[in-house]
Amino acid sequence: MDRGRGKITLRKAVIRLIPLLWWLGCSLPTSTGCTTNTDSGYEGMSFKAARNRMVTEQIRQRGIRDERVLHALTTVPRHLFIPPAYRNQAYDDGPLPIGQGQTISQPYIVALMSERLELGGDEIVLEIGTGSGYQAAVLSLLAKQVYSIEIVPELMSSARELLAQLGYDNVTVLLGDGNLGWEKDSPYDAIIVTAAAPRIPPALLEQLAEGGRLVLPVVRGEEQHLLRLRKRNGRIVEENLGLVHFVPLVGGDS
Ligand code: SAH
Repeated sequence: MDRGRGKITLRKAVIRLIPLLWWLGCSLPTSTGCTTNTDSGYEGMSFKAARNRMVTEQIRQRGIRDERVLHALTTVPRHLFIPPAYRNQAYDDGPLPIGQGQTISQPYIVALMSERLELGGDEIVLEIGTGSGYQAAVLSLLAKQVYSIEIVPELMSSARELLAQLGYDNVTVLLGDGNLGWEKDSPYDAIIVTAAAPRIPPALLEQLAEGGRLVLPVVRGEEQHLLRLRKRNGRIVEENLGLVHFVPLVGGDS
């Protein structure tokens, strides 16, 4: 009888220890399995809570309605795409440096451009300007396959590695000049350019499928206009989505 009671007590003790061990594990700074849910350090709240607040206050309240886009921004751990020095600003309402003189776009702009691509889940998408890989990760949750081109080798390698590590398996990161697009896997249902183009790259219009959407910032005078171009019966229909501010799209002379 005594031995039996002892056994029950031991089992109870072990059961009580499990949550304590779990909590300890998740509290260690090196514990990666818990980072997206329990990492604290964002103005005292978890990254997940900061991300939820970002989506509500910066994105939903500014008029983004596509639930798939809202869900993608709620899901992708933006802080992991930001250099450690700026990580505690990952869910702030603005762009941030990502090294090599480049920036990750403001969350609202990522959401706006993603929504304007009108993705339902079956599309092949081309992105020009991989940068940190964050926009590519968001697109990977909205489309079937994403090709993303980056011109700076260091950014290309780190984004490729991070996206693979986080399991965004339907993203292919390529090194090259996005002005030329990526003919091999064209035509694309949607193309997004995340750097300001001095003119609309003709190769991107050629590689756009019939009915496809190209969303890109274009420099006009002193301003940058976010445009959506749609291919309809082989013709291009242009819409202006407003003023934006992006780093320049380089290259394009070949
Ligand atoms: N989408 C990125 C942010 C892009 S910043 C993100 O989510 O983090 C713009 C990026 O475009 C920079 O990384 C820059 O190196 C890249 N870029 C500029 N000109 C380019 C070109 N011609 N082809 C491909 N990438 C280019």
